[in-house]
Amino acid sequence: MSAIIVDGKAVAADVRAAVSGECAALAADGLGSPGLAVVLCGDDAASALYVRNKGRAAEKAGIRFELHTPPDDSSTDDLLRLVHRLDQDDDVDGILVQLPLPRQIDATAVIESVSPTKDADGFHPFNFGRLAEGHPGIVTPGTPEGCMELMRRYDVPIAGRRAVVVGRSTIVGRPIAAMLTNADATVTVCHSKTADLAAVCREADILVAAIGRPRMITAEFVKPGACVIDVGITPVDGIVMGDVDRESVERVAGWLTPVPGGVGPMTIAMLLRNTVRLAAARRRRPELA
Ligand code: NDP
Repeated sequence: MSAIIVDGKAVAADVRAAVSGECAALAADGLGSPGLAVVLCGDDAASALYVRNKGRAAEKAGIRFELHTPPDDSSTDDLLRLVHRLDQDDDVDGILVQLPLPRQIDATAVIESVSPTKDADGFHPFNFGRLAEGHPGIVTPGTPEGCMELMRRYDVPIAGRRAVVVGRSTIVGRPIAAMLTNADATVTVCHSKTADLAAVCREADILVAAIGRPRMITAEFVKPGACVIDVGITPVDGIVMGDVDRESVERVAGWLTPVPGGVGPMTIAMLLRNTVRLAAARRRRPELA
């Protein structure tokens, strides 16, 4: 067997085109353009690159992008004041606080200070809670939603299937476990203390690897025909590596998301989709915002 290699770049381009269409529709209805405000604090080079890419993609799709770069030595209060100002700004539909923040800042307090109705990343506990309850709000976390979108586009059967998620972070593992549960899969969440991980993974019709350990998932973890979603991105000697050992796994799996070119491109596309959805909700039905 040779796995279908999922083309995340093509699906992401399609999602971005739909976002452009929705931006144009809002403008045509006299409702202006969606606005995304990003807060980048600190000197993390990778964060700066991610933010640049987000900005370019947003502007290309027709979303106004504003970047706020408070100095490295800002306090939690400084960031809370900035987020509050953006929250009150009628031109801003989505706010994203780029993580990690400098050590002295209480990141949880800052993330929680964004209104759920402007939560472009879908990380706010209110939005996460809605997802966990089984009735997601307008936005959901981008990377896991991107994985779900890839499975939908490739007609991967989910309802009634066994899904195993390796990783339990709040940005990937936990939300995708909730999304798969909501899509009627039977879900097991694994982590660093899971006993006999390979045996658990071999039961999966859908295997999500969100670990951050290059090439850890080899063919012996994979049930023949399974859909393998590789979320991992770890730079090794200047090359980005996934959690899945593509060479061995593609001979066994039914579907495989490659790294690069699988889940990665979906994350930004989903951020743009979240932003335009927040804008549409606020601008078309302000009483709900
Ligand atoms: P975290 O470090 O927050 O979580 C990693 C998880 O993997 C933890 O739950 C940890 O278990 C588990 N884990 C670690 N080692 C093992 C092991 N040997 N066996 C089983 N489980 C293990 O990472 P994130 O969720 O933030 O990210 C995961 C990966 O996804 C990273 O490579 C990250 O760069 C990538 N990523 C990619 C994105 C994209 O756009 N493509 C976006 C976000 C993340 P425990 O809880 O017990 O510590």
